[in-house]
Amino acid sequence: MPAGRAADMKPHVIVIGGGVAGASVAYFLGRAGRAVTVVDAGVAPASHVPSALINPVRGQAGRVPEGALQGLALTWALIEELGQRGIHVPHGRGGVLRPVPDEATRRKFDRHRPDGLEAHWLSPEEAPVSLAPGWHAALFLPQGGWLDGAAFVVGLIAASGARVVQARAQRWDARTVTLEGGDLLDADAVVFCGGSVGSTWAGERATHRMGTLLQLDRAVTGVPLSFGAYLAPSATGGVLGATFEAPAQSWQPPALPLASLGWLLGKGEALADPWGVQVTGRWTGSRLSGLSCGRSEGGVWRLSGLGSQGFLLGPLLARGLAGDIGRHVAGDGASPAAGPAPTHG
Ligand SMILES: Cc1cc2nc3c(=O)[nH]c(=O)nc-3n(C[C@H](O)[C@H](O)[C@H](O)COP(=O)(O)OP(=O)(O)OC[C@H]3O[C@@H](n4cnc5c(N)ncnc54)[C@H](O)[C@@H]3O)c2cc1C
Repeated sequence: MPAGRAADMKPHVIVIGGGVAGASVAYFLGRAGRAVTVVDAGVAPASHVPSALINPVRGQAGRVPEGALQGLALTWALIEELGQRGIHVPHGRGGVLRPVPDEATRRKFDRHRPDGLEAHWLSPEEAPVSLAPGWHAALFLPQGGWLDGAAFVVGLIAASGARVVQARAQRWDARTVTLEGGDLLDADAVVFCGGSVGSTWAGERATHRMGTLLQLDRAVTGVPLSFGAYLAPSATGGVLGATFEAPAQSWQPPALPLASLGWLLGKGEALADPWGVQVTGRWTGSRLSGLSCGRSEGGVWRLSGLGSQGFLLGPLLARGLAGDIGRHVAGDGASPAAGPAPTHG
């Protein structure tokens, strides 16, 4: 029997990368009864972010991406499903607060807000947390919150029942993966979910952005606050973070230039008063832009380029992709034709 083939000969799928993209694909394939192997190098997963916001209203323009409402509902549902299996993911579902500096920004947020998204404008005095002076108003999003990235992805992989191979995949095509060291795994389908570091290893041209979270001994606010940077609770206290370094053409090893630290602290102080809070550590990661979800010309499946929305949209996109892969490996003729990697909305 070729290495990597499941003993019971169920259709076998190899997922390269165990971040939120790969973990979610593995989870939905496993739930559908496929045999799954996750190959993960354990290097620089952006998904191990200590506190990720589940925030449907994005950036300083307040845009709401397609699928955001289904995405956030699915992410919360997965946390519940994991909980029912005894896998606890630290999280908070108490909403997200988006302060805005002026009336023009408030109008922009209003323009982009879809029906179905629960949201309430509050004056700074009405906000559920004490804002720093100077904010015009704050949009409270009760459906949002935060989660512990590492616990979420580790939990999804555990619940998927996947075999995990800790190694770097060196080469792959539609049916085989060659590991560093030469071992060959074969499969009925291969999915690439390598994130920022994997895209760089694969020699792809792409846009990468690095950011940092300062880990704090306690949360500055009970409800996450986000504009430019974010303050949020975490499993071990709180965080102040943002993705703010200049875009780069490749993954870069984690670094925190002094000027960036000053910028981040200034953004944090502009959100709320961090008086008495201690910095206990830092976490730096790199995210990849340019969403790609589907099957490439060579027949390799792919979910990557989740940008800053990995936990909002990753599981939703993975569910759709896993459905397509499942139909393909079952040979029911309903799988999409190979072509340039399409994107699922
Ligand atoms: C500072 C910062 C803050 C963020 N905040 C948020 C937030 O608040 N909310 C939110 O939704 N998102 C946030 N994000 C974005 C989110 O982290 C990413 O969208 C998401 O983690 C990307 O997941 P991924 O699975 O595509 O990649 P990754 O998490 O990077 O995982 C890729 C995995 O694949 C492995 N790999 C790569 N190539 C290979 C190979 N050849 N062989 C074997 N293994 C391989 C890597 O080692 C890694 O473990 C933030 C990102 C950063 C950097």
